[in-house]
Amino acid sequence: MSETIAFIGLGAMGLPMASNLVRKSFSVVGFDLDQGKLDKLVALGARPAGDVTSAVRDATVVITMLPAPPQVREVILGGAGILAGLRPGSLVIDMSTVDPQTTDTVAAACLEKGIAFVDAPVGRLVSHAERGESLFMVGASDEGFARAEPMLNAMGTTVHRCGPEGAGTRMKIVNNYLAVIGAQLTAEAILLGTKLGLPVDVMKAVSGGTTATNGQFQINFATKVLKGDTAPGFTIDLAHKDLMLALTAAAQQRLGLPVGLAAAGALGAARGGAYAQRDFSALLDYACDLAGVTPPRLPD
Ligand code: NAD
Repeated sequence: MSETIAFIGLGAMGLPMASNLVRKSFSVVGFDLDQGKLDKLVALGARPAGDVTSAVRDATVVITMLPAPPQVREVILGGAGILAGLRPGSLVIDMSTVDPQTTDTVAAACLEKGIAFVDAPVGRLVSHAERGESLFMVGASDEGFARAEPMLNAMGTTVHRCGPEGAGTRMKIVNNYLAVIGAQLTAEAILLGTKLGLPVDVMKAVSGGTTATNGQFQINFATKVLKGDTAPGFTIDLAHKDLMLALTAAAQQRLGLPVGLAAAGALGAARGGAYAQRDFSALLDYACDLAGVTPPRLPD
């Protein structure tokens, strides 16, 4: 518990994760561009910072949970960023979902300054993060992993060490390729069943007992859109970002992922309008809108 943690990025995921660190008596300084989110963490006992520089001034560990590669590069590598102020011997843990090149660049810049780096992107839903039940996909050296592990255990129940620095990011892209396509597939299947006259609770029960079962229908859709809750959660905009990370990585490897390309068309259109900031389970409502079908809901 002797670490002083600067937690930067207190959004849908970052705030519940940082809150668990505070509740478990870690010393936390928070920073987010959105003052309202920072106020919520401070109300739990964290100290506020007005910018990245003051957040990291006394920190021994910095955790970042930011939207996408540009923000991660700016906050870690930028002129007024983490590496401009953090002392050698410290540790940076990036939990954002980004591309492998961003993770590799940031990791090399940290190591060059004598700062350890761990990539630990997060699996599962915001509701899991709130309960301290997240899953982490970790890329780390032996020393980095040993140092990060107590903090990961305070925020989650499952920690997978995937390999050296960069392996967590690579695993997260693969994981979210499955998760995001699973969401689009689930939306289409429920739309088809609804049009064929099947109640959604019947579809859930039957598919949940066969090899067709998947976490999007059984856990995500069942607790979000099918209960009438489309507040994010994980936005369609960020789900599209993750799908594009996978498709870009595939293109760089000269791999064709035809199902992913089809899903990218659907998500790309969905994020063009009001659905962009809805939870990604609301892909169901978007598909129903296009088809002129009333979106089904599970009975209470
Ligand atoms: P979010 O948009 O809710 O939160 C991002 C936060 O970062 C915002 O509060 C924003 O104000 C802040 N921010 C942006 N730029 C900043 C800067 N320069 N300095 C300080 N703060 C800044 O996003 P989220 O849903 O919390 O996702 C964060 C990351 O976690 C993303 O990479 C996402 O893909 C990943 N992720 C999200 C979920 C989920 O269910 N929401 C699950 C797993 C992984």
